[in-house]
Amino acid sequence: MSKIEELSNFMENSMEEASLNYKNDLRILPDVKVMKLGGQSITDRGRKAVFPILDEIVENSEKHGIIITTGGGTRARHTYQVAIDLGMPVGVLAEMGGAITVQNARMLQMVMAKHGGIFLDHLEFEKIPLFLKLGCIPIMPGMPPYSFWEDIPDHGSIPAHRTDAGAFFTAEALGADAVYFIKDEKGLYTEDPKKNPDAEFIPKIHVDELLKMDLGDLIVERVVLEYLKRAKFVEKLVIINGLEKGALTKALNGEETGTIIYR
Ligand code: ADP
Ligand code: MG
Repeated sequence: MSKIEELSNFMENSMEEASLNYKNDLRILPDVKVMKLGGQSITDRGRKAVFPILDEIVENSEKHGIIITTGGGTRARHTYQVAIDLGMPVGVLAEMGGAITVQNARMLQMVMAKHGGIFLDHLEFEKIPLFLKLGCIPIMPGMPPYSFWEDIPDHGSIPAHRTDAGAFFTAEALGADAVYFIKDEKGLYTEDPKKNPDAEFIPKIHVDELLKMDLGDLIVERVVLEYLKRAKFVEKLVIINGLEKGALTKALNGEETGTIIYR
């Protein structure tokens, strides 16, 4: 056996061994609370919705390390509409939608500046521990940075990985056990309660059962449910109404409120 062959055998064997031993059990910041502030559901409503929930987040930040991720909302939807009309591929849509979540993160950061709100770019992920230690509240654009490399969607033209997915992956990467989705409804219903006021509220549900129900309309991006099934760390999605004072505080203190989707 030549030296080169020997070396390549050695490399292959050690790779195999390494993958067998791979544990993936490092929880980087297990106690951090990752929350997504809805774009359409909260930010787009302006100060009457944004200020009270940010106040509540600030109050809670004395007790918990908090990371806020932002949604896109109506401006992102408009962008998708124009881009689809012009025949843009999904990666271009993802990049453009992502830019809207940067706008929202910038605005929220300015509002939060006096409470230590700090803009966190995706590429600054490693600075999170420093910011939390300083008592800051990092605010990160919620769109996961797949950008031009966004996966081809199963249905339609809109990127499947949007800001709910971004929040989920942030929590999973940090080893947090929950993701908090701050929206404008009490939680998940059997149908969109804005379209059917008689829809039934679902306080708690296993992700498999929810997928089996095959609801036409959901309050979180569908892909997040599939990822929750495969998660190593995130145990539950908590959906709460950011327009209802105290709901977030209850959820952060471990009380069952809103909807809990668990695995
Ligand atoms: P975000 O602002 O985080 O992007 P979305 O607007 O995408 O939030 O999703 C929240 C909205 O989803 C709610 O305002 C609600 O009207 C709608 N929705 C659709 N289907 C459901 C459902 N099954 N249960 C509850 N809300 C639903
Ligand atoms: Mg949305």
